[in-house]
Amino acid sequence: MPQKIVAANWKMNLNFQEANALISEVTNILKDEKRNNSEVIFAVPFVYIHYLSNFLKNSSFAIGAQNCSEYEKGAYTGEISAQMLASVGAKWVIVGHSERRLYYLETHRMIAEKIQRALQAGLKVIFCCGESLEIRNKNEHIVYVQNQLEGSLSELSAEQIRNLVIAYEPVWAIGTGRNATADQAQEMHALIRIYLKKKFGDEIAQNTSILYGGSVNAQNAQSLFACPDVDGGLVGGASLKAREFAEIVKTYN
Ligand code: PEP
Repeated sequence: MPQKIVAANWKMNLNFQEANALISEVTNILKDEKRNNSEVIFAVPFVYIHYLSNFLKNSSFAIGAQNCSEYEKGAYTGEISAQMLASVGAKWVIVGHSERRLYYLETHRMIAEKIQRALQAGLKVIFCCGESLEIRNKNEHIVYVQNQLEGSLSELSAEQIRNLVIAYEPVWAIGTGRNATADQAQEMHALIRIYLKKKFGDEIAQNTSILYGGSVNAQNAQSLFACPDVDGGLVGGASLKAREFAEIVKTYN
């Protein structure tokens, strides 16, 4: 069975005080929730990772980063390495988010390198993929997402892929309030699982978590999470509201 995961992607939001208040409120609401083979992750801005991972020490919540460098170390001013993230308590890192592909021109190769660096540092990876509206309207979304998977995952070993989860995030659904329907999500998740089966075998395909991301909220979470190949969610905007995010997690549990 794939692990059930709900991950918050705070993006570049919240000052330190607001971040503390939010995480305290969410974890307080969820403190009595029992979790079985499931995980709740907060992907927070780099500068809060050390403090918040200490805050969550000995809890059932994990801290993640939203990006890491494709390089191991060296003269890359302003960059943050995967090893640095691990050394301050991050357990997860999001790689290949559509905002990074679009605004920072991340290529399949760069994303593949980032995944390697992250796994070498002992981090688990949330690898994002998903098509734009233009691609979907041309009915090319299946080939497009397959290319993203092939472009960044094809060199991974079966052992490595055990530490990676995939987030299918159609770009037209991110931050737009327009989520994919359960059928649209299920179709793509099933295809991603078929890709994993062809590439890494049935056991890996059956055990890899595939998350849906794109305007998930407390109202639509139930129908999306009920899809057989949806193993959880990557939640942006709604993760900034304590009660709403907690509701999404509870829906899943
Ligand atoms: C995201 O950015 O990963 C995301 C899913 O955002 P939102 O939930 O706001 O659409």
